[in-house]
Amino acid sequence: MRVAKRMNNLGTEGAFEVLAKAKELEGKGVDVIHLEIGEPDFDTPRSIREAAINALNQGYTHYGPAAGLPELRSKIAEHVSSTRGIQVDSDRVVISPGAKPIMNFTLTALIEEGDEVIYPNPGFPIYESMINFVGGTPVPMQLYEERGFLPDLDELERLVSPKTRLIIINSPHNPTGSVLDRSALEAIADIAIERDLIVLTDEIYRDILYEGSYFSIASLPGMAERSIILDGFSKTYAMTGWRLGYGVLPKELVPHFSRLMVNSVSCTASFVQRAGLAALDGRLEETDHMIEEFRRRRDSSVRALNDIEGISCLKPKGAFYLFPNIKGTGLSSREFTDRLLYEAGVAVLHGDSFGSYGEGYVRISIASSMENLNRAIQRIEEFLSKKVN
Ligand code: PLP
Repeated sequence: MRVAKRMNNLGTEGAFEVLAKAKELEGKGVDVIHLEIGEPDFDTPRSIREAAINALNQGYTHYGPAAGLPELRSKIAEHVSSTRGIQVDSDRVVISPGAKPIMNFTLTALIEEGDEVIYPNPGFPIYESMINFVGGTPVPMQLYEERGFLPDLDELERLVSPKTRLIIINSPHNPTGSVLDRSALEAIADIAIERDLIVLTDEIYRDILYEGSYFSIASLPGMAERSIILDGFSKTYAMTGWRLGYGVLPKELVPHFSRLMVNSVSCTASFVQRAGLAALDGRLEETDHMIEEFRRRRDSSVRALNDIEGISCLKPKGAFYLFPNIKGTGLSSREFTDRLLYEAGVAVLHGDSFGSYGEGYVRISIASSMENLNRAIQRIEEFLSKKVN
């Protein structure tokens, strides 16, 4: 079958590829420890599940408005206003099935052929994939381990050209767990304002923060009108499979995002949105419990990894991933992850699946029990001690 050329520009997510390989091995009876997945290993809190069941029974089973149910748009506006310290009106909120479509819509709505988009590398692979798909030019903003996986802001300034239209930032960051502090965000905001750029700020891990309090670039003076906040329910409320996310946009973009909704998925499932209302009804103790558990796993796993020869691992400040440096093992990221899977039954992601600057690293998800993490790290140690290059 002849497939449109544009499909050649579309990438994928390494996690789904590794998961497929790991499942195949499991089918052959191999015991695999899964540390490749990017979703909390917790159940969605009961109050949210019950709200969905009630909504189904109340008839929230029909199409709804493309941009989302008014009551949830308004609740999200309140939530974003209070968590970011800014005034957000509900008509700036577009609800989507998961947060991912907000990336797609942002790039589709704003980027013309040849426009440049600066994005973090290593970083979430869909940024680069979607920039290429819409005909934009991806311009990687390298994150440096020696800077705690943050960008060099002088370098960022030099990356901006007359063709630059958009900067994507992600804090807390997948895969490194780095967090952009207020002064870094101020510097990025200065560049955006001076060079008239839009910023897509991916804040999906906003709540999964181990120190300090969260600060959004959209809270800075002059930034509300040039920021698109991407956020959602997947991570904070362990709702990955429900598909519920949103964008907070400059007002003039809202009709365009709504039309993209109409043309792609019509609307987000109505009963799922009603469940979202329950999620935002006060801070849930399940979320606090989950974050504490991630913190415990992070501390113990970082310590154990740093005891292994050839590996060094920074302590992430947010999200639920570790991004250890494996250069001292003499293996490339891909060799390391393939051999670890086939020789030791541990599934992790090769760092270069997050972009070329991820080479020399692997991503380990700590969204797995402490017992699994301990067993996996022991297997990594044994694998490296037996490894013949
Ligand atoms: N942004 C980042 C950085 C992510 O890691 C993910 C999911 O892994 C998303 C966005 C997408 O979230 P959702 O599952 O709500 O579409």
